[in-house]
Amino acid sequence: MNVEQVYKDANALLEGHFLLASGNHSARYLQSAKVLEYPQKAAELTDALAKMIRDAGIEVDTVCAPALGGVLAGYELARSLGVRSIFVEKKEGGMELRRGFEVSPGERVIICEDIITTGGSALKAAQAIEVLGAKVVAFASLANRGFCKRVGGENEAKPECKLPADVPLFSLADFTFKMYTPEECPMCKEGSTAVKPGSKG
Ligand code: ZN
Repeated sequence: MNVEQVYKDANALLEGHFLLASGNHSARYLQSAKVLEYPQKAAELTDALAKMIRDAGIEVDTVCAPALGGVLAGYELARSLGVRSIFVEKKEGGMELRRGFEVSPGERVIICEDIITTGGSALKAAQAIEVLGAKVVAFASLANRGFCKRVGGENEAKPECKLPADVPLFSLADFTFKMYTPEECPMCKEGSTAVKPGSKG
């Protein structure tokens, strides 16, 4: 599967002049929710991700996603793996299980996101699960922005990566975009203005 082409076809891989959450500028941006707009396509992506996880011999009881961004990817991955799906939600400073969701001591959990940037939300989700006694056996995401090292990927983890080095990350592809500070951004120098994409756009 050509994952980049799947994102392009879904208009999830945008080209332009973007202001990222980090304050840097980039000519490309992943609008991850768009690739999950069509459930049939989402299922193809998570089937491929589930195959990577199975091929690595990872045994899993449950997929847990950080809400809101990870919920659809997590739900579809759980379907592909044939396991149950839960999600954690933001609370002050971290995340927590609500809505009657429970995990058992020793339960093997994969934390799933639509996209892993530095892995901050995924780490908070893992902490919320582990404090209840479950074991995080892997992280998973459809896309990896290249800050963290994925199984089979060529990029090493960068200092910004917040995921633990001893737990594997499974992603379909790395999307490593060139980023510029506003001062050195070539698109700004040409006179264009960076737009802020993201979940509110
Ligand atoms: Zn710029």
